[in-house]
Amino acid sequence: LPFHVKGERIEMDGNPHVIGMGVDITQRKRLEDELRRLATTDALTGIATRGHFLDSAELEIERTRRYQRPLAVMMLDIDHFKAINDSHGHAAGDMAIRKVVGVLTQLLRVEDMVGRLGGEEFGVLLPETDLERAVIVAERIRDRIAALHVVHGESRITLTVSIGLTEYRRGDAGIDALLLRADQALYEAKRGGRNRTVTRAPALEAETAA
Ligand code: GH3
Ligand code: MG
Ligand code: MG
Repeated sequence: LPFHVKGERIEMDGNPHVIGMGVDITQRKRLEDELRRLATTDALTGIATRGHFLDSAELEIERTRRYQRPLAVMMLDIDHFKAINDSHGHAAGDMAIRKVVGVLTQLLRVEDMVGRLGGEEFGVLLPETDLERAVIVAERIRDRIAALHVVHGESRITLTVSIGLTEYRRGDAGIDALLLRADQALYEAKRGGRNRTVTRAPALEAETAA
């Protein structure tokens, strides 16, 4: 039981005593935990918020750098999502978002991390994974989402996603550098017709001879 204890040494009748008071802070702890959960978890989907995803990513990059491990980063965006909202309503759109997240959490490993970067856009960290391996994972996700039928009222909604991928390379300053490349790849996937995965490898490090 979490207790907050306050004690004091006093002298009584020439003998030393300790008096103390214990306060049960279970409620306060519970409130703190709940506030932390609310700040780090997206309400619609239960995955990490953008902020929490970015914080976790920086820690993962530290680890990647220190132990010289591979790390892939994925950006995934639902195709023509506005059309889903427009023709089936916002509630159907919300349900589609949850279904997409369901596929992600089902197909990814426990050590992978998914965050909701924006409305219908997601980021995924794939520790211990290089670009080649990440493509296999991404294509599996893309296939599974394309095979979904989101049932909403009388409608059966199908959807597709576009995916941009990159991997960490020594010299990448942080998650922003990785997300920038993943976003460029995602943009190419959209421009190339959507429902596809595009990779953008990091540029080779400039080996500048002094
Ligand atoms: P593209 O294939 O280029 O990605 O087209 P798109 O229509 O998916 O992209 P766009 O960014 O134009 O539209 C995204 C839409 O997502 C706009 C916004 O109204 C909707 N949206 C954002 N957040 C939510 C949400 O939490 N729930 C629902 N239902 N819709 C959302
Ligand atoms: Mg979209
Ligand atoms: Mg979007």
